[in-house]
Amino acid sequence: MLVVNAGSSSVKYELLDPHTGASQAKGLVERIGLSDGVARHTVGGRTHEQVLDVPDHAAALQLATRAFQEHGPTLADVDLLVVGHRVVHGGAEFADPTLITPEVIATVERLVPLAPLHNPGNLAGIAATQEAFPDVPQVAVFDTAFHQGMPEAAATYAVPRQWREEHRVRRYGFHGTSHAYVSRRAADLLGRPLEEVRSIVLHLGNGASAAAVDGGHSVDTSMGMTPLEGLVMGTRPGDLDPGVAGHLGRVAGLSTEEVERALAKESGLLGLTGSADFRQVMARRADGDPAAVLAFEVVVHRLLRYVGAFAAVLGGLDALVFTAGVGENNVELRAAVLQRLAGFGVLLDAPANAAADGETLITTADSRVAGYVIPTAEEWEIARQAAALVS
Ligand code: ADP
Repeated sequence: MLVVNAGSSSVKYELLDPHTGASQAKGLVERIGLSDGVARHTVGGRTHEQVLDVPDHAAALQLATRAFQEHGPTLADVDLLVVGHRVVHGGAEFADPTLITPEVIATVERLVPLAPLHNPGNLAGIAATQEAFPDVPQVAVFDTAFHQGMPEAAATYAVPRQWREEHRVRRYGFHGTSHAYVSRRAADLLGRPLEEVRSIVLHLGNGASAAAVDGGHSVDTSMGMTPLEGLVMGTRPGDLDPGVAGHLGRVAGLSTEEVERALAKESGLLGLTGSADFRQVMARRADGDPAAVLAFEVVVHRLLRYVGAFAAVLGGLDALVFTAGVGENNVELRAAVLQRLAGFGVLLDAPANAAADGETLITTADSRVAGYVIPTAEEWEIARQAAALVS
């Protein structure tokens, strides 16, 4: 199974064994359309890298297929079962993995206004992959799909009817493959049927979102119509009074585009500290940098607001799970969140948290809620859903 995750200027790919999920090779082509593109292909523990201009997504896919030919495994020999594509925005149209047809491509194109930075790259990746593997079924797995069953009360913004009906202004949510996979693993680790488990998943990477999952179904999530809402992220602010945009237009003369760019690329950790990378923020915090100290507090405060809100939405909580780059690796952040929840019977197991490696229970046996670190596996989840559809 080949998984393709085509972003605006990069293509990530991974070849997975359909039976075990084991990664057989993976790669990344970056800086598409810019100068000095970089192509990396990792197989058997070795990474092969080249620096060269990559004009477009088709060229990126050609580099990937050539890397398979040169460094293995040869795609002609592996008998490709399916290509699974990560597609960011499926609007309200797609609630399930979908076999890619010309109609599906047309619908994803129609959804470009909802995700102008993401869907075009996804479409370019699909076109290039169809050309490279015309005989292999291709499946779109949407970031938004897992949240499409959210209750209307959670998906609805209280805005004029015309905005909602004509312009599709509603909450869609993202990171769905990660939230689906991680919430399922949490139920497995608890040893209880998925249908009975209420969990909150904190997917904390460069982009970050929380999801409330009840019995395997997303019932609320922190990202909304776009991936800007909710938690504090690397370069995005998360929740913000919508009045701020108009205020900046009036007092600073900023255009809509300028406000949007600042909210997508210059806010979050970057806006608070000058660095979008959580590791660097933690290093500066350890040195006593007041901006980094405050940024950490802001991140934790926002997380607590969502944990509290989602616990109430779920009417109780069985598992609280940390995943993605920051969630899987940052001991202090997990400790700060869990310690503040002690009054609700959530009891941090500090040594387990400090030593967490892979799937780890980080609360004590008498904790009312089980806290976990569960590494996400978006590629595996995309491949699994795509393969399930074609078989
Ligand atoms: P993406 O959303 O790009 O997939 P990732 O899930 O890879 O992001 O997460 C990237 C973030 O994880 C970065 O902010 C990075 O600093 C952070 N991160 C990675 N490793 C660590 C670590 N050991 N400690 C703290 N943060 C980390």
